[in-house]
This record gives sequence, structure tokens and C-alpha cells, in this order.
Amino acid sequence: MRVAVMTAPEAVELRDEPTPKAGPDEVLVQVGACGLCTMERRLFAGEKPFYPVAPGHEVAGRVVEAGAAVEGIPGSPAVGDTVTIDLLTRCGTCSACRRGRSALCKRPQGGALSDGTVSFGAGLAEHVVVRATQAYVTGAAPMEHAVMGEPLACVAHSVRLGGLRAGDRVAVVGAGYMGRLHLALARHKGAAATGVVDVSPDRLSGARTAGAAWAAAPEEALEIGGKQDVVFVTTGAPGVLENAVALCDDGGTVVLYGAFPKDLSAGLSPDLIHHHELSIIGVYSQEPEDWREAAALIAAGRLAADLDALVSARFSLDDVGAALKLAAYSPVYRVLVGAC
Ligand SMILES: [Zn+2]
Ligand SMILES: [Zn+2]
Repeated sequence: MRVAVMTAPEAVELRDEPTPKAGPDEVLVQVGACGLCTMERRLFAGEKPFYPVAPGHEVAGRVVEAGAAVEGIPGSPAVGDTVTIDLLTRCGTCSACRRGRSALCKRPQGGALSDGTVSFGAGLAEHVVVRATQAYVTGAAPMEHAVMGEPLACVAHSVRLGGLRAGDRVAVVGAGYMGRLHLALARHKGAAATGVVDVSPDRLSGARTAGAAWAAAPEEALEIGGKQDVVFVTTGAPGVLENAVALCDDGGTVVLYGAFPKDLSAGLSPDLIHHHELSIIGVYSQEPEDWREAAALIAAGRLAADLDALVSARFSLDDVGAALKLAAYSPVYRVLVGAC
């Protein structure tokens, strides 16, 4: 089979690799689509210079082989099923996994191709093999939706840990791909009103079209949107935490979802947090129950229109270089690679 390997900034090649076999507890999946996420963009643009590497962690496809131990087990993916795939290492033995917090698994992530090349998913390929416990059936949903299982699971995790309840007033800071998934899920969960905050007029108008109750630039958010019960921060810009706290009503929660620069610090009043019972939480990655929710929503078509609106472009595996170039340098939502 072929697998894409990045060898330098803006250099990607398709290598031949033995097609993996499914072990007893695994399934072999023919890749239908792989989404290009921030990690792939940064690798391609040279912002994260780590080469050679086989990236691609947002993967969906069709099961072509099921291991003997999982074949025929009710609930387990069967040959022919469309699945969305969790490629994280969840060791089950570390202190995080034992608390049910496998998003924070302490076992090193990533694997290797047959020649030792490091893989971060290796989903820009014709096949991937995965533990059956980490392949989630998405029914008759199109591959373009199934491939959004990983980011949607991350957002389900964010919404779950953020404690969002029906009737809440919600703001989403950052109206890029992850912000839009937060908007879609918050609306689906029964938020009373979900608004978005962004500096880009294009992204604000896209969010309005997608059903945002209000859309505002950061300096106008409080005036236009008013105080909020839950504020999801999906962008790591300086000052964003302070602004999110200012948007939060008494008893509210700020959820830090986006990645922040390592050296960024914030000035907050402990008295404000104490006196107004504010919660500030970090969320990172996803856990099995988030995957189950994401896959079920995708299978049921509950977010179909939202997900359709976020497919920016599709490329075949042969054109993976062009796909990465578009994803790295254009204001896209999701670029997909694969047969779809
Ligand atoms: Zn991702
Ligand atoms: Zn672990």
C-alpha cells in the first residue's frame, strides 16, 4: 500500500509500505478519507520541523478485515462497516488511563512504519490497522462526515467537561473549524443562544449562516452578546483568556480548548474567580465516551448540514501535496484526502 511521508518542509512523498494485517483484537481499515488538522499544516509549513514523519490522525474508512477475537461480537465493527478511527495510544495502565482520563495517557504517542519512520497516525495512506475498541461505526453516513469523528470527539469532550446544560448561554471564541464544531454541538445540546467571537468578518458571517445567535469582534462581544454561562476558547491569541473571563457571568465556566503559545501567561484576579464562582478548565483531546457520542451523532445525521458546510476541498491521495499546500496556507475549514 502507499503512505504519505513528509521528509522536509513542503516535501511529501508516497512510499510503498506492506499492507498491515489485523491482529486478533484489531480491524484493518481501507482509508476513505483523512482530514488535515493543525498538526499536518504545521509539519508541512515547517513550523514543527520533525522529519521524516507519516502524519494523518483524522481517519475514516471501511473495515476490510476483522481480527478473530472481535469478529461477530455485537457492537464490534464488522467487515463492510464504515468506521471513524481513534488512533491515540490508550495504554490502560498509566495513572491517567486508570482514572478514566485516557486523553492524557502517559505512554508515548505515535508509532512507526516498517522502515522505522515515525508515524503520527499515518492516515494519509491506503490502509490503517487499529484496535477494534477504537473503531466506531458510523452507519450510512457519508465518509466526509465519518472523517470528522476525531475533531467532533474532541469537541464532545470539551462540551462534556465544560458542563454545558440545555438552556445555557454560550459563546465560542474563534470561528475556525473547531469553533464551528463547538457552535454546532452547543446548538444541538440545547444552548439557549450560541454566539461567536472572531476577528475575521468572513468567519463571522459564516458562523451567522451556520446558526450563530450573534457574531461579534472581540471588543464588541460583551456589548452584543452579553454575559455567558459557558465560554469556549478555541483560539490561542494573547488576551483571549482575560476577554473570556470578562464575558463569563457569575457561576460560569471558561473552557480552554485551543492551543496556546507555551510562554503566554495571563493576569487574572483570584478574588474575581472566588467571588463570582468562575471555573476555568483546560480540555485536551478526547476519550472513548466522546467518540461514542461523536460517532452516534454522525451516524444519525444530526449534524449533517453543519459538517457539510465545513468540507472545504477534497483531494485524492495522489494529490496529497496540493492538499497540504491548500490546508497550510489558506483559511480553510477542512481539507480531506482520500477516495471518499
Ligand atoms: Zn485533529
Ligand atoms: Zn495510559
